[in-house]
Amino acid sequence: MKRIGNQVTFIKSATSIRDFPDLNMPHLAFAGRSNVGKSSLINRLTDIRGLAKVSGTPGKTQLLNIFNVEDLFLLVDLPGYGFAKVSKSMQADWGRMIEEYLLAARENMLLVFLVDSRHEPQKKDIELYQFLEESAINYVICATKTDKLKKNQLAKNLSVLNNMYTVGHNRFFPVSAKTGEGIDRLINHVQQQLQTIQGARA
Ligand code: GDP
Repeated sequence: MKRIGNQVTFIKSATSIRDFPDLNMPHLAFAGRSNVGKSSLINRLTDIRGLAKVSGTPGKTQLLNIFNVEDLFLLVDLPGYGFAKVSKSMQADWGRMIEEYLLAARENMLLVFLVDSRHEPQKKDIELYQFLEESAINYVICATKTDKLKKNQLAKNLSVLNNMYTVGHNRFFPVSAKTGEGIDRLINHVQQQLQTIQGARA
């Protein structure tokens, strides 16, 4: 099975970009609503079980968790947003933290933006999408948990998501962390993008 990295080491949890290690590497970041399947996808991509905790308690992490992948790039797990039980002001803080990071890392980063293939675009997702477009962030959309839907329903939902998030087919990745569907295609794109970022910095 293809992976983006086997040797992954945890560096630190940061509460703001000021806490970031000053390492001269490209960033691969992950963002999405709580419970979208972010930890499962990261674990699938890196094959380090339990590395990014698969959450029993969504909404708890407010930290950006930073990992070093084979001294090639930083993997940045952004805190999941949109968890109903978290207060409005805390949600606003999270939004600010994510935006602050994305703007600061923009030149050297690819963002994997996860949305659930079972659901219509949600308000918070659309807000993030608009921010990404306005800020010219380099990102792809991953529609997660494709194994949970019947073929016809999945096709319908993907078409709705595709119409909403106008990134084009090349940057739209239906995936299942459970079955591995779509993962190789995502990894190919990620590796190629990270090489491009690295090349531009050399
Ligand atoms: P996070 O909060 O975004 O990190 O989401 P998690 O990775 O913790 O996943 C939330 C729930 O969805 C867990 O119960 C996972 O087992 C489940 N899940 C995640 N990805 C998939 C998938 O591709 N297929 C299925 N069937 N379940 C998934």
